Amino acid sequence: MSSHQPSIFNDVIGPVMRGASSSHCAAALRIGRLARSLMGGAIDEVLVEFESKGSLATTHETQGSDMGLFGGLLGWDLVDERLLDYAAGMRASGIDIRIEITDFETTSPNIYKLTLGNSQGSHELIADSIGGGMIEVLAIDGVPLSIRGDCHETLIFHEGDGEEFCRRLGTHFEESEVFMRAEGRTIEVKAQHFLDADVRMRFRDEFPIQHWLELERVLPVPSHPGTALPFTSCAELLAYDAGKERELWELAVDYECARGHLDPEDVFERMREIVRILQGAVRLGLAGTEHEDRILACQSGAFSERMAAGNLLEGGMLNEIILQVTAMMEVKSSMGVIVAAPTAGACAALPGAVLGAGTVMGLSLDQMTRGMLAAGVIGIFIATHSTFSAEKSGCQAECGAGSGMAAAALVTMAGGTLDQALSASSMALQNMLGLICDPVAKRVEVPCLGRNVLAASNALSCANMALSGFDAVIPLDEVIDAMDEIGRGMPCELRCTGLGGLSTTKTSLAIEAKLEDRCSS
Ligand code: SF4
Repeated sequence: MSSHQPSIFNDVIGPVMRGASSSHCAAALRIGRLARSLMGGAIDEVLVEFESKGSLATTHETQGSDMGLFGGLLGWDLVDERLLDYAAGMRASGIDIRIEITDFETTSPNIYKLTLGNSQGSHELIADSIGGGMIEVLAIDGVPLSIRGDCHETLIFHEGDGEEFCRRLGTHFEESEVFMRAEGRTIEVKAQHFLDADVRMRFRDEFPIQHWLELERVLPVPSHPGTALPFTSCAELLAYDAGKERELWELAVDYECARGHLDPEDVFERMREIVRILQGAVRLGLAGTEHEDRILACQSGAFSERMAAGNLLEGGMLNEIILQVTAMMEVKSSMGVIVAAPTAGACAALPGAVLGAGTVMGLSLDQMTRGMLAAGVIGIFIATHSTFSAEKSGCQAECGAGSGMAAAALVTMAGGTLDQALSASSMALQNMLGLICDPVAKRVEVPCLGRNVLAASNALSCANMALSGFDAVIPLDEVIDAMDEIGRGMPCELRCTGLGGLSTTKTSLAIEAKLEDRCSS
C-alpha cells in the first residue's frame, strides 16, 4: 500500500468538481479537508505558505487554490455552491487566515505548507498537489508520511511500546483491511474506518499517548492492502488479454474491479453517472454561462447557430465535437460542475470527443460509457508511469493525455479492435508531445479552450488513422515514457507558472491587470 496504485475514478476520470483547475481547486480542497479533520473540525487560525519559486506563488489566487483550500478548511465538498463566494464563507467562519510567499525547501512546485491552530494546540501539515486533483500529504508535525486520502488515516504519537500498541490495535481491524506502520514514536494506520470513540479512550487510558490524530478519506475509491492489479502498462495489458480478445473497456472494468475491490456493475454504473454529469454540463454550457473573473465571453452559442445554419466549413462530427468541447469549457470557466478528465484544465477534450462523436453516431448512454472506460485505462498507464500535472510536465500532461485517452475511446465507440485503440492512443499522444503550459492572465481559458479543441480533433484524426490500419510505430508505453522525460526537461517558466510563453505577452499582462481591477472594484 505504500506504492500508489491509481484508480480510474480517483486518478483519471474525476473528481466531479467546480473550478478552473483540478490541481489547484480540487487538490487544495482535499488538502483543506484533511487539515480540518487533523484539527478535529475546529480551526481558529491558519498560516498558508507557498514557496516563492513554485507554481502556487503566482497562481494560487487566479487558478483557484485559495478557493479550494478555504472551502476544504470549512468542510465543504467539491461541488458546493458556496465555493462561488468562498471569501464571504471564510469571513463568516471567523477563521484567521494568512497567506505568505516564503522560501522553504521543497521537491515539488505545488507545495502547501499549513500551520493550523485552535484552543487545543497547533499542527503543521505539508502537502503536494500532484495533478488532476490528486494529493499527497508529505509530513505532519515534521514526521515524513505519504497520505493520499484513499483511506481513513490514524496517526498516533506515543511514548510507549510501539510493538505492543500495534498488536493490540490490529485486533480491532480485519487483516485484509488495514495497513499499519510503526516508526520511532509514531504509529500510522491506514484503514477503512476509524476506531470507535470508546476503544480510543481505552487505548488512551492504557498507553502513554501524546496525540491521536485522524484524517478522513477524501477520495471516492478506497485502497486496500495487498491488492494485486491485473496490469499496470500497455505491454502487461496485452499479455493479460492474450487469447481472450476482449475490448479495452472490458479490461478497464477488470482493472477497476481489482483496484477498488468493486464489482463490475458498480464500476460500469459509476462511469454511467460520470457520462450523465458530462451530458448535464454540455446542456448547461449551451444554455449560456456567465462569470465575472473570466476572459472569454460565451462562444458556444454562436458556434451552434452558425453550425445549424450551415455557415461553417463542413466538419461533420468534428464540428459537433468542437461545440461540445466549447460548451464544457465555458461551464468550467463559470464555476459550474464539471468532471476533471483527466484534469479540469483539460476537462473537455476527452468528454467533448466522446459526447460529440456519440451524438453524431446516435450512440446510447452505455456505448459512450464504454468509450469513457476505455479512456480510463489509458489514463491509468499515464498516471502510473508519468503525471497529469501541468506544473510538472506542461500541457502535454493535460491536453496531451486527454487526447491519447480520447483517441482510444473513439476507436472503442466505433467498434475498433484493442490494437487499434492502443495505436490511436499512441499516435495521439505522440502528436501532443512537448506542449507547454502558458495560460493567459494566469486563468485556465486561453489557450486552454483551443488546446482542448486541438486535443479532441487530434483524437478524432488518430482514431480514423488507426481504424484504417495506420502504424503508430512507437508503442504507447514508450510514448508515455518519452512524455515524462520531456516534462522533466521543460523549463519551469513553461509549466503553469505564468512566467513564460503566452502568459507574459503584452496582451496577457494587460488582460490580467484588467481582470484584477474588475474583481477588486
Ligand atoms: S495550457 Fe493546458 S495545461 Fe496549461 S492551464 Fe491550459 S489546459 Fe491546463
